[in-house]
Amino acid sequence: MNTKYIFVTGGVVSSLGKGIIASSLANLLKARGYRVSIQKFDPYLNIDPGTLNPYEHGECYVTVDGYESDLDLGHYERFTDIQTTRASNVTTGRVYKAVIKKEREGVYLGKTVQIIPHVTDEIKNRVKKLGITGNFDFVITEIGGVVGDIESLPFLEAVRQMRWELPDDSVCVHLTYVPYIAAAKEIKTKPTQHSVKKLQELGIQPDILVLRTEKDVSLDVRRKIAQFCNVAPDAVIQSIDMPSIYEVPVGMHGQHLDELVLRRTHTPEPWGPIHMEPWLNFLHRMECASKTLTIGLVGKYVELQDAYKSINESLFQAATYNDHKLKMVYIHSEKLDAGNVAEKLSGLDGVIVAPGFGQRGVEGKFVALEYCRTHDIPTFGICLGMQCMVIEYARNVLGMPHANSTEMEPECADNVIDLMETQKSVTEKGGTMRLGAYRCRLTPGSRVAEAYGQDEVRERHRHRFEFNSDFRDRFESAGMKCTGTNPETGLVEVVELPEKRWYIGTQYHPEYSSTVLHPNPIFLSFVKAAIKYQAERKLAEGEEKKN
Ligand code: GLN
Repeated sequence: MNTKYIFVTGGVVSSLGKGIIASSLANLLKARGYRVSIQKFDPYLNIDPGTLNPYEHGECYVTVDGYESDLDLGHYERFTDIQTTRASNVTTGRVYKAVIKKEREGVYLGKTVQIIPHVTDEIKNRVKKLGITGNFDFVITEIGGVVGDIESLPFLEAVRQMRWELPDDSVCVHLTYVPYIAAAKEIKTKPTQHSVKKLQELGIQPDILVLRTEKDVSLDVRRKIAQFCNVAPDAVIQSIDMPSIYEVPVGMHGQHLDELVLRRTHTPEPWGPIHMEPWLNFLHRMECASKTLTIGLVGKYVELQDAYKSINESLFQAATYNDHKLKMVYIHSEKLDAGNVAEKLSGLDGVIVAPGFGQRGVEGKFVALEYCRTHDIPTFGICLGMQCMVIEYARNVLGMPHANSTEMEPECADNVIDLMETQKSVTEKGGTMRLGAYRCRLTPGSRVAEAYGQDEVRERHRHRFEFNSDFRDRFESAGMKCTGTNPETGLVEVVELPEKRWYIGTQYHPEYSSTVLHPNPIFLSFVKAAIKYQAERKLAEGEEKKN
């Protein structure tokens, strides 16, 4: 069959969860056996989100091929198990950069370079590039931003052109907001009507409307919206708030979103039958989990939980597969000191020390780690968290009170964490870290090897600094083992304290590769250790009471 193109646009306000709808649709089409690719267009001028502060757009997600992307790609992977790449996220900055480069190379043969057709062609090519491979039945393209924004105009113009060129092989799903006015006890359809009008002004007629709402939108109201917006009544569906985003695919399937798309794109029948059992099994475990696990996350961006999106989701998946609900406690590393650490960390079943950059809040991570290590709390350090584990150990166990990372202290003599050799000549900040998936060989018999059940893994990276191997022997003889290394470069990827319950740091980010159907084994192992630790504490408390 021809590749079908699905465009997902959004109206009224941002943060409606377009990424979740796009991911849910991809999930359903995959569950029907179709080959699906999914991408996101971001209207901002940054070349990629890698240089953005997490307070701006939340976490920066990293693809296997080393692209620093929007966090929506994380949703795509978690919902679909599709491995995204740099083709899955395109920003205005990247599009303009490509166009300007071509202009300088003379590719446009003396023509005046314009938004239409040159920028729009560049955008369309990035959609079609995925279709042309012949590898996909469906290409889903989410257009970031809100209809009506100046920035998204070229993207919407490209969508208009593609809909015109491929009327039978494309579809536009428009997501809008239906607010509930408490004082009037009414839901309001006017914003939806206006946003569809706006889309129509731009020459795009949406085929399917998905209404984001907190209250049920009655069939009558849906019919009214359908009439106002030139959309078939059965193609107006609602996406009502759900306790978990992972229930959205089921909600969408219940309202036939997948069938609507198959019909509108003239997908040849018989359509693939849907196989949702593994997904439903996950939801079932999620609903049945009765006990709660409490995990603390020590980081400096804790005011914005999207900054740790993939870690949160990985832990949630791991907790669910261990039949536990997850309670996260966010601990601001800047506010943590020796005086309050016991109060903040005791009572937790496990602690994650988060990734990060720069000096701010780093001392609080050392305080947390000293407490966790000496109290033998299951502890997981990720990227900067792992580096902090190394520094804390050097300072408090190896007798190197001034040990540090040269990121925090460039002239530090006890530079147990140091700039990677390959980073020394790097001057530009964007896209220049050690990025993407690299091999990591695990020491047989180590806890990390046991967690993965294999002796080699490939995990994703995003860092400039590394464990300084000059100190490796000192660490290993004192008890901190380097149990994962990159076979090509010898870079240390994992450290662990085998005598502790679970004290592991990974230079890589396992959270990027954890999905609902394939949770990352290291998170499963960490959560198991935390559950065991909770049980041990409960038992000890029981004993104490008896005495
Ligand atoms: N700042 C550290 C480095 O660049 C860690 C990065 C991270 O935690 N992602 O090496």
